[in-house]
Amino acid sequence: MTSPLPAKDPGHALRVQLDGLEIEARRPLLITDADEVLFAFMAGFERHLEDNGACFNWASFRLNGNIVARDTGEPLDAGEVRSLLGSFFARHTGTMPVVDRAPEVLRELSDRLQVVVLSNVPHPQREARAAALEANGMPFPIVSNEGSKAEAVRDLAGRTRHPVFFIDDSPSHHEEVARAADRVIRIHFIGHPRLAALLGPAEACHFRARDWPDIRRFVEAHLDRHASR
Ligand SMILES: [Mg+2]
Repeated sequence: MTSPLPAKDPGHALRVQLDGLEIEARRPLLITDADEVLFAFMAGFERHLEDNGACFNWASFRLNGNIVARDTGEPLDAGEVRSLLGSFFARHTGTMPVVDRAPEVLRELSDRLQVVVLSNVPHPQREARAAALEANGMPFPIVSNEGSKAEAVRDLAGRTRHPVFFIDDSPSHHEEVARAADRVIRIHFIGHPRLAALLGPAEACHFRARDWPDIRRFVEAHLDRHASR
């Protein structure tokens, strides 16, 4: 189980977690996002918005600008969106349903590589997320992060010479990871079908996956090619 993080600045919280993580230099590594990749974020968040007098208008992939007040139709400002995200994670991190097939594919892939979950869940909910991963058959180490994932990915990828994969639903994370650690193989995946339909493949990704079996095929093919070199 995870231990509580010291209450210092977010950069410190990330450093402590990365330092405590053991990465095997002789195995490939898969770094995966959680919300909308392992856990069905949007389905639950939409309900949370409705409970709080707001809704998502499905105009585009972004949260900011597309969350509107139900009575006026006016977009909520960034502070209000942040606060709704905060209350959502505080209440629902432990009970979010998983994305179809994620646990079984990760379990199968973990025979050939190590898995780390890199999630922008708020630091105080890291333990609830770790417990939810475990309860759903995904007992992999979890790193909670804030903002760009580039630093964490560069750090982790630097610890193995074998292939490193990165999975995330957000194009901006792919872009930042591409700039910081270009050798990382980037897989763009959005679990929610309606959300996925709003967005083409991230410009900075190598592969856009439809579902977890699609991810498995792509990763295994890459590992097979790497092993035969
Ligand atoms: Mg996500």
